[in-house]
Amino acid sequence: MLNEIDLDAANSRLTGVVRRTPVLRSRLLDDALGAEIYLKAEHLQRTGAFKFRGAFNAIAALDSNIRARGIITYSSGNHAQAIARAAQIFQIPATVVMPDDAPTSKRQATESYGATVVLYDRYTERREDVAAAVLADYNLTLIPPFDHLDVIAGQSTCARELFEESGPLDHLIVPVGGGGLISGCALAAHRVNPKCRVVGVEPEAGNDVQLSLQQGQIVEIEVPDTIADGQQTTAPGTHTFAIMQQRVAEIVTVTDNQILDGMDHLFRIQKQVVEPSGACALAALLADKTQIAGGRVGVILSGGNISPERFIDLMGSR
Ligand SMILES: *Cc1c(COP(=O)(O)O)cnc(C)c1O
Repeated sequence: MLNEIDLDAANSRLTGVVRRTPVLRSRLLDDALGAEIYLKAEHLQRTGAFKFRGAFNAIAALDSNIRARGIITYSSGNHAQAIARAAQIFQIPATVVMPDDAPTSKRQATESYGATVVLYDRYTERREDVAAAVLADYNLTLIPPFDHLDVIAGQSTCARELFEESGPLDHLIVPVGGGGLISGCALAAHRVNPKCRVVGVEPEAGNDVQLSLQQGQIVEIEVPDTIADGQQTTAPGTHTFAIMQQRVAEIVTVTDNQILDGMDHLFRIQKQVVEPSGACALAALLADKTQIAGGRVGVILSGGNISPERFIDLMGSR
């Protein structure tokens, strides 16, 4: 399966389309952690998160006749916006199945790119079922948020760009939801430096991937209660699980309060606004959950889609 994932094709499709996001450095942070930290600023990616990479790559990889019929997906937000924007660029229709409690800002952004939003109740309905019903009616192609080889390949370009800028890294710290981002990043890391230690970070309440890797089989949990809405997944996918088993060294967890510390640090010191999931990987470093002292460390800031109201609310709650 690993050799079916075409990292180079993804890189060619995305070059000149994705934004080559900056890599941020800070002497304060390096001193505080006793390591060399490279922050990959994917909150500055098109549509505000790395998800644009995987979404665009998956749509671009389709046969043009199939693509023209339209795309459908399910997502709590960032993948939805990414699919909507990528579909708009290809001038094809997009349908997004979204939980009815998703942040309004994310829903509005999806609609602003011209996608049709179908709402469902995530506590009583399965998004896969809702999507399957619409898909069959309109002959659409499903592009899920993480368990898809071209989505994973697209996400790999995030780490690839980081390495091009930072040079070889000892550790790569990546937020984990369903594992699409870390799978792609781990494949890219392994190619340039098989010794690079790839560590995933999940919110403590939603450690489905940690449990799955520990138990050697996919473990499904309840919808987790966490502020990190980009990582409210209930289980890894079959592809992402297999890749993570081979290429991810460890998954650590952070509490919501530790995530808030990460957001606070990024705002105060780096002058960056990130959403909770976007601060998750840095939060693990600040909370001393990863052994990185003395190393060269890449950290993915995965997204920045948060409304001013929610940002103020969260920052004020500490
Ligand atoms: C989707 C998302 C994640 C998790 O990515 P997976 O590919 O599901 O592991 C992390 N952070 C943000 C901001 C996201 O949108």
